[in-house]
Amino acid sequence: MTFEELKTLDGQYVLQTYGRNPIAIDHGTNATLYDLDGREYIDFAAGIGVLSVGTANPAWQKAIAGQAARLGHISNLYYSEPYARLAEKLCTRSGMAAAFFGNSGAEGNEGVIKLARKYSFDKYGEGRGTVITLNRSFHGRTITTLAATGQDVFHQYFFPFTEGFRRADPDMASIQEAAGYDVCAVLVELVQGEGGVLPLDREFVQELARLCAERDWLFLVDEVQTGVGRTGSLFAFQQYGVMPDACSFAKGIAGGLPMGGFLVNEKCRNVLTAGTHASTFGGNPVCAAAACAVLDTLTDEVIAQVSEKGNYIRTKIEEMDLPCLGKTRGLGLMIGVEVAEGWSNKDLCARLNQAGLLSLTAGPGLRFLPPLTITCEEIDKGLAILKEALSR
Ligand SMILES: *Cc1c(COP(=O)(O)O)cnc(C)c1O
Repeated sequence: MTFEELKTLDGQYVLQTYGRNPIAIDHGTNATLYDLDGREYIDFAAGIGVLSVGTANPAWQKAIAGQAARLGHISNLYYSEPYARLAEKLCTRSGMAAAFFGNSGAEGNEGVIKLARKYSFDKYGEGRGTVITLNRSFHGRTITTLAATGQDVFHQYFFPFTEGFRRADPDMASIQEAAGYDVCAVLVELVQGEGGVLPLDREFVQELARLCAERDWLFLVDEVQTGVGRTGSLFAFQQYGVMPDACSFAKGIAGGLPMGGFLVNEKCRNVLTAGTHASTFGGNPVCAAAACAVLDTLTDEVIAQVSEKGNYIRTKIEEMDLPCLGKTRGLGLMIGVEVAEGWSNKDLCARLNQAGLLSLTAGPGLRFLPPLTITCEEIDKGLAILKEALSR
């Protein structure tokens, strides 16, 4: 199929909910990809932070093929070894107590919201169902996670949204203003991803965790984008010196297969009891086997290199001193780049994609989320494309 034939087919039969780049990637290895015409691209997007161990990772392929040949699905009415082994790996390395698996980030966040409301209901009864979320946050596309998302542009068309969310700024005065007897939890991204790669202040996060403990609000962390090594530790909370009551994850967990879910601490392990929460595909053996291979690949050593690679990319971009770009920010391989006044981040991003560097936008800036396994050669190739494309 040629690109033009594919574009026509998509236009005719696919719901046009995405503004797509005029590119059709066909195959690749690690962070080097090829389109239908064999043109090469360097991957600084990783399928929006999903391809944590790169494209066609051999250990990931082997785990999937092996599991698919044994048992592709069984349902959560039966025990499943890949499910339990994955839960053990995540808990052991994060210090959390137990895991639940679903299929997406939004579903993971729905889970922690349900957890908080039931925790509070069990202890205090009705009337304590409000969750505080932050301005510029992003928590998903379901009606409830849209309601939780702290950006007005997402609160359109789909009324009525789910009740029980209150917004605050990332400072303690604003949180105190949002506080009340009806609150059961606070939900935050430690580095706001879609909002523009905005890391929260460490002191603020620690104070927030203390306030949550004091008021018996659950401290919920959305690690859908920051989790699975992305920021230079398995979860971002490990660098912030806090322990959440629950954290959601998704994007990078299964290296490209659909999986999301959440982890809870000891205090919350008995809140969601049999029959109160479920997901038909959740923790599917093939996805769980893929996720086990991802975690085995992302050793502490590999994750330690994430910060080095991220700092290298940021330093190199700042050294280019390009007129269209401003400061860089972020944590690990979650990188945001400011766009200078008078330039459009969407135009610059389209230009990078066209020039052979798959890139993303976030808020008003550019965003790079390369595979965590990207090699130094691939990074340098990507940076050379960036320099050439944005100097023009
Ligand atoms: C991507 C993202 C989501 C939504 O994940 P889906 O898998 O698309 O449902 C939620 N929260 C954060 C922080 C995200 O980056």
